[in-house]
Amino acid sequence: MKNIWINLKINFLPFLKENVDTFLTRQNTIVKNRTIKEILECILNYKLVETILDILKIEDNKYYQDLTKEEREKLEKYNQLWNNFCVSEFYEPGSTFKPFTIAAGLETGALTGEESYVCGGMLHIGDHDIHCSHREGHGSQSLKRSLENSCNVALMYIGQAIGKEEFCRYQKVFGFGEYTGIDLPGEALGLLYDVKDMDPASLATNAFGQNFNVTMTQLSAAFCALINGGDYYKPQVVRQIWDENGNLIENKNPVLLKRTISKETSDIVKDYMLGVVQEGTGTKAAVEGYDVGGKTGTAEKQPRGNKKYLVSFIGYAPQENPEVVVYAVIDEPNVAEQASSAYAMQLASDIMKDIFPYLGIQKAGAEGDGGQ
Ligand SMILES: [Zn+2]
Repeated sequence: MKNIWINLKINFLPFLKENVDTFLTRQNTIVKNRTIKEILECILNYKLVETILDILKIEDNKYYQDLTKEEREKLEKYNQLWNNFCVSEFYEPGSTFKPFTIAAGLETGALTGEESYVCGGMLHIGDHDIHCSHREGHGSQSLKRSLENSCNVALMYIGQAIGKEEFCRYQKVFGFGEYTGIDLPGEALGLLYDVKDMDPASLATNAFGQNFNVTMTQLSAAFCALINGGDYYKPQVVRQIWDENGNLIENKNPVLLKRTISKETSDIVKDYMLGVVQEGTGTKAAVEGYDVGGKTGTAEKQPRGNKKYLVSFIGYAPQENPEVVVYAVIDEPNVAEQASSAYAMQLASDIMKDIFPYLGIQKAGAEGDGGQ
């Protein structure tokens, strides 16, 4: 018997589970793809945590082709059991990707932060009319306002300014299209364009989060780097493993994999994301008393035109030195009009409202004199 200390505070898991259950009851449905409910239940189930470690042990010691038939079958069964949306499923992120495009623009010097854009509701690129979410157009707006309004037209201009080489390079810098190395089995890669295949229309749609795929794990890990000043850490579930006599067998310290962007860029993008929740498309995610920043996403699923959507919100707090990231993805909300990120915002907001006091997250305007 081993004891495992994971990087989540067990005591607040019931809060998360309760909020997800409430959401599912409100939606009167079993969501098509199980989402965080699944990983929570798995984490809450101690036996399954041991199972992951067994699988990791097999994978560490042997290549798949070296396994016996029985071992392979066992591994595949475990993988089926453990197929979890957060790690193994990929999807188009939609507008939650926009802060990454803006960060790439600032970091490469393609943007200064002083830009303004005029959105007339669409742009004609290549052979396509590519629309903004707001068909009537957002009119003239600053860079910050473009993110607060989630304006596709502004993001298409930004994609053009960055250029396909640098855009594709920054997707990789943020770890998209690559394994994060999380200590859970069955991690998916997602699909990105290669620079040589990227035409102007693909660059335009990629810039606002369409036509490529990510996993929740990739987006969460990259988002942490985006808001923490640029450090990309390997996402880890297990923190420590103890034996039955109370001896520490293994200590998993945070692993810094790379630098992504400068602190200066990170601070600017955070300022814009605070604006998203305070006065942009993300106001429903606000939590009273706290400075929450974040970004909404409403992505129409393939094939387009079937009115099936994946809606999401990713947010963090506090604004200075963020400590918590909450990412809620709802794959096909069980409603007639799926195209609203409000469902994801409400869920994320409910979870944050419960866990912030528990985790001792600093309230807005509470920084004061440092308290010493
Ligand atoms: Zn627009």
